[in-house]
Amino acid sequence: MSRDPRYDILFEEVTIGPVTAKNRFFQVPHCNGMGRNYPSEMATMRGNKAEGGWAVVCTEQCDVHYSSDTRREIRLWDDRDIPYLARMTEAVHRHGALAAIELVYMGYHGMNLISREVPMAPTARPGKYDFPIHARTMDKSDIRAVRRWHRNAALRAKQAGFDLIVCYAGHDISLAMTFMSPRHNQRTDEYGGSMENRARLFRELIEDTRDAVGDACAVTVRMAVDELMGPRGMMCEREGRDVVEMLAELPDLWDVNCSAWENDSISSRFAEEGFQEPYIEWVKSVTSKPVVGVGRYTSPDRMVSLVKNGVMDMIGAARPSIADPFLPKKIEEGRIEDIRECIGCNICVATANFVVPMRCTQNPTVGEEWRRGWHPERIAPKDTDDTVLIVGAGPAGLEAARALAQRGYEVMLAEATREAGGRVARESRLPGLGSWGRVRDYRTGQLAQMPNANLYYESKMDADTVLEAGCSLVVIATGARWRRDGFGRTSDRPIPTAAGARVYTPDDIMDGTVPEGPVVVFDDDHYYMGGVIAEWLRERGLKVTLVTPAALVSSFTVHSLEQGRIQARLMDLGVDLVPLHRLGRIGEDTVDLVCVYTGKVRTLASASVLMLTAMEPIDSLYHALEERTAQWSHHGLRQVTRIGDCYGPGTIAAAVWSGHRFARELGGALSDDVPFLRENVELQGSLVLPAD
Ligand code: ADP
Ligand code: SF4
Repeated sequence: MSRDPRYDILFEEVTIGPVTAKNRFFQVPHCNGMGRNYPSEMATMRGNKAEGGWAVVCTEQCDVHYSSDTRREIRLWDDRDIPYLARMTEAVHRHGALAAIELVYMGYHGMNLISREVPMAPTARPGKYDFPIHARTMDKSDIRAVRRWHRNAALRAKQAGFDLIVCYAGHDISLAMTFMSPRHNQRTDEYGGSMENRARLFRELIEDTRDAVGDACAVTVRMAVDELMGPRGMMCEREGRDVVEMLAELPDLWDVNCSAWENDSISSRFAEEGFQEPYIEWVKSVTSKPVVGVGRYTSPDRMVSLVKNGVMDMIGAARPSIADPFLPKKIEEGRIEDIRECIGCNICVATANFVVPMRCTQNPTVGEEWRRGWHPERIAPKDTDDTVLIVGAGPAGLEAARALAQRGYEVMLAEATREAGGRVARESRLPGLGSWGRVRDYRTGQLAQMPNANLYYESKMDADTVLEAGCSLVVIATGARWRRDGFGRTSDRPIPTAAGARVYTPDDIMDGTVPEGPVVVFDDDHYYMGGVIAEWLRERGLKVTLVTPAALVSSFTVHSLEQGRIQARLMDLGVDLVPLHRLGRIGEDTVDLVCVYTGKVRTLASASVLMLTAMEPIDSLYHALEERTAQWSHHGLRQVTRIGDCYGPGTIAAAVWSGHRFARELGGALSDDVPFLRENVELQGSLVLPAD
C-alpha cells in the first residue's frame, strides 16, 4: 500500500538549524519510568519510535547537575552518564531519526532527595510538593554556576550523539520557567522585574548552548506559554507572547505547550484532541522558526490541517507515540486503519509516576521492548500446531486473539453477547470515557483483516461447548464483576445490610439500571469508576453523596493527573462529598457512615447504595473445565489458561497486557527463573565495613 497523497505534506523535510528532520513527526519529551534505572529499556523504546517513523525522538527531562535531581529521570551529571545515553542515540540513529535531549535545571520543584542539596529558585519559597524543604534564593554566582552546568551538559549531550539540545522552560518544573513567572520571581536585580529581565536566564541558557554546541546541534526550546490559571500565572497573551516575541529567532525551533503537566497531558475525560491549539496557534506568526505543538493528535487529517493552517510545522506527540510507536510509518504506508490510537487514559503517566517502566492501555509492549524482547509491531510466527479457542471478547480476549492470529494461529473467539469489547464497550458509554472504545475498535478492526481469526457473537460457552470445539488451547477471558457485599480494601467482611436495602454495583448501571435517589456511592476502589458513576447518576437528576475512606475522591487519579479535575467536576455537579468515611451498616432507607479515624457514626438518608469496593473473577467456566481434565485429551485439549480480569481483576491496561503475553508465550505460568532481562547496579569500589 502506498500513502494517500493528501498526507504528503506530513512527510516533507523540516530544517532545524544545522540538522534536518526527515518528516514532520516530532516525539516530544515524555516521562517513562525507565530513564537511567532501566537504560536499555529506555533506549530500545526510543529506538522503536525512530523505526516507527518519528523524525525526532526526544528524551524525557535530563538533570544537568546533581544539585537538581528528579530521582527518576535521566541525568548528565558527569561523563559517566554519557554511555547509556549514547545507547539511546545509537538506537535512534539506526533508523535515520534525530535524537533530542531536554536539559533541565529544576527550581523549587526539585526535592533533591538524592543529593540533599538545598534547591535553588529565583526567590526563596517552599518546595512544590509536600516534602518539607525550602528552595533558597539564588545569587549571581549561583546563576553563573547553573549556566556553566547547563553548558557542560550540552557538551556531554553532543558527545553522547544528540542532534537537538532542548532548553527547557516548561511545566512549572524548570528554573528558566520559574524565573519568567511573576509568581515565582520577586527579584529586584537584572534577573527580576521586567519581562526582559525575567527572561534573561532563559536567553542566556539558549545562547550558552548555541555557543557550546550550536555548530553541530540544533538548539531548540520547550516552553510553556500559558499556565491555565488566569492572571495568577503565565498567560499566552501576556508573558507567553512577550517571551516568544523577544526571543523569536534565537532558538532553532519552538516547542510550545501549556503548563503544568496536568494541563499538558490532560486525559480524554477532560479534553479533546487539539485542546491546546487556542493557546499556541499564534506562535508561528511571531517567529520564522519551526513550531511544534501537542494535543494528543492521532488523526492524520487533523495533522494536515494543522500544518496547512499554519498552526505548527511539526506534529508533537508524547502519548500517541507511546500508544503507537509506528504511527508515522502507518500513515506513510497508507495503513491508517492499523493505527493504535491513544485513548487518553493516562495510565502511562500514572505508572511512570511509580518510577517503574510505564504501561500503556493500547500498547502492551511498552516497557517490555528490551527486557522481554517485545517489539510493538513484530511478533514471532507460530511455532506449535495448536488451535486456540478464546472465551470472552473483552480487552484481554481481543488482544490475545489479535496477537495469536498475527502469529499465524487459527483462533476462535467466542463472545456471549452481541458486542465485542467487554468492559471497554460498557465503560466507554459512561461519561467522559467514549474514547476508551478505541481499545476495542483497533482490535476488532485488525481481527476483521485476518482470515485465521473468527469472532463468534452470542456464543455463551460452557464446559461442554468448549470441549466440543476441539481446540488444543483454551483461553478463558470471561472478565470479572463488581462485588455487591461491600468486601474490599476497608471492609474485610461484608457490610451488614438490611434485607430490604437496595444495593447496586457499576455492572447494574452499565446494564441500564437507574437506581432510586438519593444515592450513596461508596467508593473504596479509588480509581476512576466511583467518580464516573457519581457523574452518571447526577446526569439523571439524582441526589448523590459520594462517600470514600480516602481523603480525596478518586484518589489514585492523583497519579494520572486527573484528581483535581475530577474533584472539581463532582463539586460543580452538586455531588456531596464525604471523605474519610466508610460504610458501617446499610439500612432500608439509611446508611451509617463511620469516620475512619474516630469511629464516630452519622446516619444519612439513602434510597440506594452503589457499591464500589472490589471485583471478583468470573471463573466458573475455568473451574468447570479443571474438573474435567480427564476428558481433555479425548477432545484434543492440552491446556486451559485464564487471562485478564478473569485471572486477576485490574486495569484495562493489565487485561490487554495479559492477553498479549499469552499470545507471545502460550502460557503465563510463573517460572522459577526471572523471565525478563535486568540491568543490575554496577558496584563501585570495595565494601568498607565500619570496623575497617
Ligand atoms: P477482560 O477485561 O479480562 O478482557 P471483560 O469483562 O472486559 O474482561 O470481558 C469479558 C468478556 O467475556 C465479556 O464480553 C463477556 O460477555 C464475555 N463472557 C463472559 N462469560 C462468557 C462465556 N461463558 N462465554 C462467552 N463469553 C463470555
Ligand atoms: Fe494513551 Fe492511555 Fe497509552 Fe497513555 S496509557 S499512551 S494515555 S492509551
